[in-house]
Amino acid sequence: MAYKIYLSPPHMSGLEMKYIQQAFDSNWIAPVGPNIDAFEAELCQYTGSKYALAVSSGTAAIHLALLALGVGKDDIILCQSLTFVATANPIIYVGATPVFIDSEAVTWNMCPDALEDAILHYLQTGKKPKAVIVVHLYGMPAMLDKILYLCKTYEIALIEDAAEALGSEYKGRKLGAFGDIGILSFNGNKIITTSGGGAMLSDNEKYIEKARFLATQAREPARHYEHSEVGYNYRMSNVCAGIGRGQLEVIDERVAQRRANFWFYQTSLGQISGINFQEERPDVFSNRWLTAIIVNDKETSSRQIQAALSGHGIESRPVWKPMHCQPLYKTLPLFGGSVSERLFQYGICLPSGSNLSDQRKLVARIVSDCF
Ligand SMILES: *Cc1c(COP(=O)(O)O)cnc(C)c1O
Repeated sequence: MAYKIYLSPPHMSGLEMKYIQQAFDSNWIAPVGPNIDAFEAELCQYTGSKYALAVSSGTAAIHLALLALGVGKDDIILCQSLTFVATANPIIYVGATPVFIDSEAVTWNMCPDALEDAILHYLQTGKKPKAVIVVHLYGMPAMLDKILYLCKTYEIALIEDAAEALGSEYKGRKLGAFGDIGILSFNGNKIITTSGGGAMLSDNEKYIEKARFLATQAREPARHYEHSEVGYNYRMSNVCAGIGRGQLEVIDERVAQRRANFWFYQTSLGQISGINFQEERPDVFSNRWLTAIIVNDKETSSRQIQAALSGHGIESRPVWKPMHCQPLYKTLPLFGGSVSERLFQYGICLPSGSNLSDQRKLVARIVSDCF
């Protein structure tokens, strides 16, 4: 369906064409080339990560992260339940088993207490989990202190799914650079885009080199085509990397524009008692990729508000449906309570594009008219 106002459309800076033109002029129309090398270096500089690998999608980056960590058949991966399905699917690609962790009600991300319960449970049964995948939903940093502490104490690798969180900070440091491996997405709806793409970040060169090898068909360094492992074709195109370079130049503006959307919605809807927002604690900075509201009111519901917006040609979305409620994953274990289920039931994401401007007034009016 074509909307008048989209949830999170691409927003070009005008700087992208210069890099795309360079790719054409030099004929680097391939999944190698100078834009890719430069984009990787610029991502390191921006996030503070030592190494970066640009790939074809955020999903591919998660798949490569699991492979680089040596995750394989029957390993247990503790994964945040409230997320987009792309966080969990790569666990299945490598033959491992996802175990889902509920959210806490403040940041909506992985509940550290439920994570601890899960770790202790599996340690008791002699099956130490191989990795934890935490997500920073809608750009909001998860409660990293305790999650990092647990992963360090029990020596379990941490993968940070920062697909929605480029530009967000935890205690002054950029997200994506906290886990053993961090991943980013540059899909068309994300805070910056390469049309489609992703990246893997790490301070550990071995993980990046392993992922680079697997992402280029696991081709051994030999003159002929020599292969001893199954590889993938996961590299980013040099043309797309050019789009990413032009986008990364304006990331701070994009974060400011998204945060201005949040501030506008909070100011104009915050006094309605049935509406609550995702909370930014004092030591964090969210890119506010999407502004989501929780609607808890006798007169209306999140789904009624969505219908009202849709009637005006405005796109909105429910908060992600938790993985443990998906037909695909509902037979798998969950640790924690029902926080994520309630966030799904009552939650709605409002149009949050960095190019939204005055259209948000109309959105806020339609929402407040529902009460
Ligand atoms: C978008 C997204 C992904 C997947 O990224 P793609 O680039 O679309 O493959 C993974 N996890 C989360 C939380 C996302 O929002």
